[in-house]
Amino acid sequence: MPKLRLNAYNKGVMPDSFPAHRYPSENCRRCRRLVNQFKRLSVKHPDYWNKPVPAHGPSEASLLIVGLAPGLHGANKTGIPFVGDASGNLLHDVLASLKLTGRVKITNAVKCLPVKNLPSAQEVNNCSRYLKDELEAHRLIPDATLLVLGGVAHKAVVKALGARQADFPFGHGAVHHVEGLQIVDSYHCSRYNTQTGRLTRQMFLDTVQLAGNMAYS
Ligand code: SF4
Repeated sequence: MPKLRLNAYNKGVMPDSFPAHRYPSENCRRCRRLVNQFKRLSVKHPDYWNKPVPAHGPSEASLLIVGLAPGLHGANKTGIPFVGDASGNLLHDVLASLKLTGRVKITNAVKCLPVKNLPSAQEVNNCSRYLKDELEAHRLIPDATLLVLGGVAHKAVVKALGARQADFPFGHGAVHHVEGLQIVDSYHCSRYNTQTGRLTRQMFLDTVQLAGNMAYS
């Protein structure tokens, strides 16, 4: 488990990764539907994080993993991307197998829990400014590499980088070079994808290993 830090900016869990101004304020209200959902959840789950979830990981990491959005009982509960639910368990299990634990940064394209696990196009758009800042900071690191989980996150990354979607189609295992970043695509390591067989542990391990090799070869 990466070391957690408290920061006065958002009074939350903050990594060493980025300056505080690159994080969404816990008071960000650009997505009214998601803010209203937090109000309901703070009653139902008062012990949950129920706020935008910032990226997490060491500043010098050459590999940045980009998921879609916090899960209800995962990041939205713990305040840390991919910690607390099945998809996080698989990701951290694979990272440990490849000796990448503590050597990656992890974020989501959308920082707040989406309704029914699917952010609207407008919500992805609203949150793009934070993703863009994270990508710009990451691009300064030698061998900067992204592992992007799922088609929606992939499109959000391509958009945040100002590139044409048609030039960089999503595909499991596909490799792209966009605006100084090496990008590896993977199906999302969600419980749905693993239970339906769309993504096996070996398939996921292969893409994480590919991205890790590109970042740390
Ligand atoms: S999803 Fe992003 S833009 Fe929307 S309210 Fe949360 S932090 Fe703000």
